[in-house]
Amino acid sequence: MKCKRCKAPAVVALPSHHTAFCPECYLIFARRQVEKAIKEQAMFTREDRILIAISGGKDSLALTWQLLQLGYNVSGLHIDLGIGESSVKAREITEKFCTTFSVDLHVLDMTAQGLGIPEVKKRTKRPICSVCGQLKRHHFNKFALENGFTVLATGHNLDDETARLFSNVFRWDTAYLGDQGPILPAEKGFARKVKPLYRMSEFETANLCFLAGIEYGYHPCPYSTGASFTVYKQLLLDLEEKQPGRKLSYYEGFLKRGRPAFSSLEEEQGDPVLPCERCGYPTSTTVCGVCRLREAMSA
Ligand code: SF4
Ligand code: ZN
Repeated sequence: MKCKRCKAPAVVALPSHHTAFCPECYLIFARRQVEKAIKEQAMFTREDRILIAISGGKDSLALTWQLLQLGYNVSGLHIDLGIGESSVKAREITEKFCTTFSVDLHVLDMTAQGLGIPEVKKRTKRPICSVCGQLKRHHFNKFALENGFTVLATGHNLDDETARLFSNVFRWDTAYLGDQGPILPAEKGFARKVKPLYRMSEFETANLCFLAGIEYGYHPCPYSTGASFTVYKQLLLDLEEKQPGRKLSYYEGFLKRGRPAFSSLEEEQGDPVLPCERCGYPTSTTVCGVCRLREAMSA
């Protein structure tokens, strides 16, 4: 198998793009996928101050590395969830990466705030992943706005996005279908959110890390078992194997034709959003979910 660009021996085959690349040309391919995403969705410019949510996993590290290579102004925010060994390793990897590549890193420690996930799990009846997701979104958004960042970037990839879309379609959740996408504009007290890796699969971001020499860890969270997204991801991987390129065309088709139809519905349905009485975070109730959680934890 030869590299499609330079005819050297290929190391990565990409059936979804009908191509294969040598290490150097693969890095060019990956860079172009990210450049295309940024340009097509008008995500940000070199004037923006970009805050990247860095978990220590391959996607957020690949994203940070790629945006650095492209000359963007990036900083990282890592949230230490206090989930035993999994969080210790994730923080170690993030700190090591940011030291190696001279990335300005901020860390928020949930345990120090009385919101470590194991303690929260003991005190709430809600599914822990939903509470954890809410905590992360709240802190990333608040930190970005309070520290003058104009954009918040996350490492969601094509597999994450198509699994989410599939799940939203299965439930015919019109509100989410109107909102889902690789860019959410700044509004109602929320920072602009972007997902520059939305054109790349997990396989492709893992290859990017490997070929760019980025060390990443896989220390699964003990609460991650049974997530429904995993089932959808597997279904879509099976489909992709039979019909290469299907995931990207499904998602691109949604962005062009599906989302506009659902977002016009969403405008009619949207709940009024006002600042939380305690912390100012946008919420559709008087006190936001995180302030209510803090209250429950200190009771
Ligand atoms: Fe949080 Fe773990 Fe659930 Fe992920 S799997 S949302 S880290 S509790
Ligand atoms: Zn609040």
